[in-house]
Amino acid sequence: MVDRIFVTRKIPEIGLEMLKKEFAVDIWKEQQPPSSEEIIRRAKNCHGLITLLSDPINKELIEQLPRLKMIAQYAVGYDNIDIEAATEEGILVSNTPGVLTETTADLTWALIFASARRIPEADRYVREGEWKVAWGPEMLLGKDIYGATLGIVGLGRIGTAVAKRAKGFSMKVIYSSKSETELTRVVEDELGAEPCELEELLRKSDIVTLHVPLTDETEGMIGNEQIAMMPKGSILINTSRGAVVDQRALIEALERGHLFSAGLDVFQEEPLESDSKLLKLTNVVLAPHIGSASFSTRAKMAEICARNMIQGLSDEIPDNLVNPQVLVQSKQ
Ligand code: NAP
Repeated sequence: MVDRIFVTRKIPEIGLEMLKKEFAVDIWKEQQPPSSEEIIRRAKNCHGLITLLSDPINKELIEQLPRLKMIAQYAVGYDNIDIEAATEEGILVSNTPGVLTETTADLTWALIFASARRIPEADRYVREGEWKVAWGPEMLLGKDIYGATLGIVGLGRIGTAVAKRAKGFSMKVIYSSKSETELTRVVEDELGAEPCELEELLRKSDIVTLHVPLTDETEGMIGNEQIAMMPKGSILINTSRGAVVDQRALIEALERGHLFSAGLDVFQEEPLESDSKLLKLTNVVLAPHIGSASFSTRAKMAEICARNMIQGLSDEIPDNLVNPQVLVQSKQ
């Protein structure tokens, strides 16, 4: 009998076509995500589940899907999934790393430019009829990117791609990460980037950009104390996960003018609450979690996600398995 899978949102056609050739596919077609109850109802008899980062796949939900063998996440981050619970139930979990690295690094740079040179503010200034003097010596002054010090927190795939782009702007790159890897060696050798502790990085950087996954260790890693270490007039960019930053502390620092500006693609609550103070601030650039949002990258993510699912349900090891412990466990 053909395996059944539930896809919690319409992903690009290329991935859906691959899935439809192999499985009986049920797709959630609404824009808003399905509730947990709806996921349970629709996936009850499914062997595979394709999820987005906005689907909280917790222990309670997993326990109610007795036939589930595979969860293929349509994202690189998978902090919305209780990996331990999935592993305990013998469920394979995969993600889509690598293909979105460059696109997310581009978006990070878009936020760096926009925040440092006040691009959205300048755009509004023109559109709203504020541009009444042709050229002003002190009109909309921003911060230089060229020659500035860029501090990268989390030097993995995306952090490294961000570092490489800094070379064209003759920036000094410093980074703090968890472990020494091939990527950290490349960044040190090719770009002359220097490793340092988080505290030192915060004190020395003109622009800090965050690229860590959301884990127990990184949740709230940038709070009041850390922001206070950043020099007055510096800039914070976050394209990792909202909960890595204490949003209230960030808002206070932006209001006081301690930080010159911030560029955010991710938030503690997504979508951002309609009464969020961030919406009132002019020195923050906001994007609705679009780090990987290019046509080609989203299509590649769909392909990888579908391939992982096909591999997992054909008793092959998915290329991007995130919980390999599940294999050891199933052998015991
Ligand atoms: P990655 O290659 O795994 O890089 C993450 C890096 O952070 C690794 O070098 C990791 O070190 C390091 N790290 C982990 N915990 C740390 C800590 N406590 N302190 C310092 N460094 C730490 O992941 P990636 O592909 O670059 O993606 C990074 C994150 O970006 C994802 O997890 C996701 O949440 C986010 N993301 C967002 C978007 C978006 O749309 N805005 C798009 C893609 C990704 P180890 O390898 O030693 O653990």
